[in-house]
Amino acid sequence: MPKLRALVHASQLFTGAGIRRKDGRKIQEADLGLIEDGALVYSVKKVGSKEIPHRVEWVGATSGLPKKYSRVSKKDLKKQKVVTAGFVDCHTHLVFAGDRSEEFALRSAGATYEEIAKKGGGIATTVRATREATSAQLEKLAEVRLKEAYAWGIRTVEIKSGYGLSTESEIKILEVVQKLIKKHPEMTIVPTFLGAHAYPKDQSREAYLNDLLERMLPEVARRKLATSCDVFIDDGYYTRDEGKRILTKAKELGLAVRVHADEMGDTDSAALAAELGALSADHLLKVSEKGIQKLAQSQTVSVLLPGTAFYLKAAHAPARKLIQSGACVALSTDFNPGTCMTQSLPAIMTLGALYLGMSRAEILAAVTYNAAKALGLSGSKGSLEPGKDADFTILNAQRFEEIYYRFAWQPS
Ligand SMILES: [Zn+2]
Repeated sequence: MPKLRALVHASQLFTGAGIRRKDGRKIQEADLGLIEDGALVYSVKKVGSKEIPHRVEWVGATSGLPKKYSRVSKKDLKKQKVVTAGFVDCHTHLVFAGDRSEEFALRSAGATYEEIAKKGGGIATTVRATREATSAQLEKLAEVRLKEAYAWGIRTVEIKSGYGLSTESEIKILEVVQKLIKKHPEMTIVPTFLGAHAYPKDQSREAYLNDLLERMLPEVARRKLATSCDVFIDDGYYTRDEGKRILTKAKELGLAVRVHADEMGDTDSAALAAELGALSADHLLKVSEKGIQKLAQSQTVSVLLPGTAFYLKAAHAPARKLIQSGACVALSTDFNPGTCMTQSLPAIMTLGALYLGMSRAEILAAVTYNAAKALGLSGSKGSLEPGKDADFTILNAQRFEEIYYRFAWQPS
């Protein structure tokens, strides 16, 4: 018998079983698996000196707790806390160095993101600082951020490379992520290779693309430094054809793929993501009707990042159209130093409620099961059901919606 622990008297416990059954599509209140005064029994495992929740044994109302668990050590939540599947932040650029607060002030005073980029600011600023930083410095910066993510209820976080833009520094970033994975078993960290984030200033387009295809991708795949490959397909970044070449090669090497799609312009990249069987198509501010239909008919998750649209004062993604068409929609922070400097997934939920018109049920699905699906982890995470990972978040609130009703509020 494995070592067991239990949570009892959660004011609300959401199993999310119905979200899983509907594969995250057209989610209604009834799909949330809400249990008032809920309880959860789970096994634990030891990783080094840490005791980590392992698998869900049983879930239900506290009053229905089976007798066989009567001697299990219990944490009483006194009907003051909500339990959900651990939040999943499925799109972040968490490993970077440097500071762009000054740039933010310029932007607030009227300069556009494009104007700043032309002056050597923007991504280039972060690339310089990240290249100059040692692995140890990057690791230290990232660890502080992981801690913050945990405090926001996030238990699984995707981290992209993409601020190196050279073989050496892209690999350096992914090695840092590998160290974080080993050091932080309390979180699930999913590494993504985003060498195709931008083109570097110190290499020709052809030379960099060649490096990416012939040096970086093979090394990333061989050393298992990332589980997926992402490309920023957009006006002024990677073309649809370049993206297709990179992602096709990544698939041949055994990596899953995802796309920064249709953000600043409609580049038909959401449709490309669906055609390639990508795990996710992210941003989608300018997605076309065709792109929406393709996503709805595919297994590709539509990852919406309303924090970025908010930060850039851009028009938001057509969330309602995506949801009504049957797409599986996730929400994520897009935490990055240029276009969305926040790790608060609850603040993103507030934006989802206000600007994307998402219901409570759609929001809960979007940060649990649907975001787990965007990382290829929905078989083990995203809902609290016997046999799945005991990957949960205890929220310091009596009702789930309280954590995004009180916006930009730290719930723990
Ligand atoms: Zn991004």
